[in-house]
Amino acid sequence: MSHFDRPVSEITESIRNGSVTCKEIVSESLERISATQQKFGAYITLLENQAAERAEQLDKLDTDAKKELPLLGVPVAVKDNICTRGVATTCGSRMLESFVPPYNATVIDALDAAGAVIVGKTNLDEFAMGSSTETSYAGITRNPHDPERIPGGSSGGSAAAVASGTVPLSIGSDTGGSIRQPCSHCGVAGLKPTYGRVSRYGLVAFASSLDQIGPIAMNVEDLGTLLEVLSLPDPRDSTNGRKAFVNSPDIYSGDLHGLTLGIPREYFGEGLSPEVRSGIEQAIEDCKQRGASFIDVSIPNLQFAIATYYIICTAEASSNLARYDGVKYGFRAKDQRSLVDMYEASREQGFGAEVKRRIMLGTYVLSAGYYDAYYLKAARVRTLIGQDFDRVFEKCQALVAPVTPTPAFKLGEKSEDPIEMYLTDIYTVSANLAGIPAISVPCANPNGLPVGVQFMAPKWKEDTLLRLGHAVQKS
Ligand code: GLN
Repeated sequence: MSHFDRPVSEITESIRNGSVTCKEIVSESLERISATQQKFGAYITLLENQAAERAEQLDKLDTDAKKELPLLGVPVAVKDNICTRGVATTCGSRMLESFVPPYNATVIDALDAAGAVIVGKTNLDEFAMGSSTETSYAGITRNPHDPERIPGGSSGGSAAAVASGTVPLSIGSDTGGSIRQPCSHCGVAGLKPTYGRVSRYGLVAFASSLDQIGPIAMNVEDLGTLLEVLSLPDPRDSTNGRKAFVNSPDIYSGDLHGLTLGIPREYFGEGLSPEVRSGIEQAIEDCKQRGASFIDVSIPNLQFAIATYYIICTAEASSNLARYDGVKYGFRAKDQRSLVDMYEASREQGFGAEVKRRIMLGTYVLSAGYYDAYYLKAARVRTLIGQDFDRVFEKCQALVAPVTPTPAFKLGEKSEDPIEMYLTDIYTVSANLAGIPAISVPCANPNGLPVGVQFMAPKWKEDTLLRLGHAVQKS
């Protein structure tokens, strides 16, 4: 049996009681990475030496010091849009191919302080823009359950890293579903925290009002363990809520008595595949068995969510990505005659097609004459979507919904049609627009392809999500 088939609390316990060393745990991770990397391509950068050295240092700590470390010796994979001091942070882009940050993201310091061992940086859609991990400059990532299919995106590498058993934990970022959607497709658990729960300091910005870093794991208890570590209050991020999440064993009782869940009818309409629908229905049954009750509710503005999201995220992306001009960071085109030529050629050659599409869309919706018609209107609809959630949360403590309309699709199936790709985000983007937390937990396995169920809760109620996710996992 692999060490990684057990919850993280058991791994750290066996390190503490001396039945295994950090070095052995980390070696197992590195061996599994080398056995699977060629097949699935989950990683962009491997940190074999750094990880092995770190494991040795951790093994030398005395018993008391080891007791203080909640992730003692636990191998973790990190999405490659999160800055790691001295280690390339590429965002899956030619633009940042050789960018080595001189500082750590707050979450990286938090992982270090918790005794975790970072074993590698994982693949993603370029600048986290996508739903399939097919647009990375480093190549594609494949779904460990079926290598001919996408792992989901944009945190496809982080989800595949856990699903293929190379690490028990990874971290991803979720701007419009990029933690939940790949977790659903890869059969692992993932949580997008409340906006402001986890510091964004050192996360390369895509759409700053939507981006959140969150945990990915094989099981729901581990999501709680990792979220507690990641949610370190941080004055360096002005949008950080400075509310650390407190994990507690009470969350994982399996008992759902007293919980009322809403079933938002708009999430179960046209376009939802039968496999996914029956998975969610089963999860609802499981929750009923454990004491939860259900009511029908409505999020009427869900119909505008995709349009709203793709206006806001592209607007913010066009502004955030203006910094890549060939002067300050990363790629610079050679042999240009003027400064303007250099700007243009660097952006032309450094960015891939999807990133350029979003910069152009975002620039368009922000431009004079179109701002009111697009950006301002989207900002208003965003408020309405938030109000829809506020209203239903007066009647229930959480919502249950699908994560994606279908199980993982085939590689290449949607790459030619960006709109079709965007539409697959229909069930995930609203939680980001509203800033509320949401979780994806495996609930079914039709023909071997995993399906996840999504729960959403009011702001700061990650404990409710973990309680529900754990109950489904137990069933
Ligand atoms: N699929 C969405 C997009 O392409 C979400 C991306 C994300 O959450 N990073 O924008």
